[in-house]
Amino acid sequence: MIRRRNAERDEGFATSRQEMVRHQLEERGIHDPRVLDVMGRVPRHRFVDPALVSRAYGDHALPIGAGQTISQPYMVAIMTEALGLEGGERVLEIGTGSGYQTAILAEFTPHLFSIERSPELSRAAAAILKELGYANVILKTGDGTLGWPEHAPYKGIIVTAGAPALPEPLCEQLAEGGRLVIPVGDREIQTLELAVKRHGKIRRHKVLDCAFVPLLGRAGWRE
Ligand code: SAH
Repeated sequence: MIRRRNAERDEGFATSRQEMVRHQLEERGIHDPRVLDVMGRVPRHRFVDPALVSRAYGDHALPIGAGQTISQPYMVAIMTEALGLEGGERVLEIGTGSGYQTAILAEFTPHLFSIERSPELSRAAAAILKELGYANVILKTGDGTLGWPEHAPYKGIIVTAGAPALPEPLCEQLAEGGRLVIPVGDREIQTLELAVKRHGKIRRHKVLDCAFVPLLGRAGWRE
């Protein structure tokens, strides 16, 4: 009986997920088929608090504890699309949070490193990622504004918290031809930027306006 109820529930989530992909992503211009495919498969509801699962596929961010949020599905999609991953690249994520974006990236590459400042969130993300079978992701707790030089250079770096400026260590750790996707602005409102490294130089492109929680750390906002 319980098993049947769970199966019905999972089916309900699968339907909500397909609707999310169609109305929130495709209809707003996300067209990379791999991004749409992956977001149609990763169970977002498993990354939110059980009390909030009914809102997991809604068109908004949700609280995940420690004053942080799981990003809106559209934001996850546009950031993933901007990274332009072809598969198998070395990728660094700053701000593991719930681990949802981490799981999306793990569908593209087995070489994924993710840093989270809050030990509590990092532990919870590690547990759910393991449960869902994302065994290759390497997580650590610490200040992601400094990057993770041991594994550099990265073809893709994604920062899921708002920075006051491009953190120098992340620019340095970007590979030639690599892409850094990061919200830059003030503490409340930012512009999502794509920074591309060519011939050792960084070129910045604006993607869209956004509002992320602050990136706190040495090359971020003061704590
Ligand atoms: N991608 C996550 C977003 C979480 S919100 C998700 O969708 O669930 C942003 C996260 O960045 C928070 O968990 C916050 O604790 C973390 N963060 C802020 N400053 C950081 C830093 N300097 N290094 C690593 N993580 C940081």
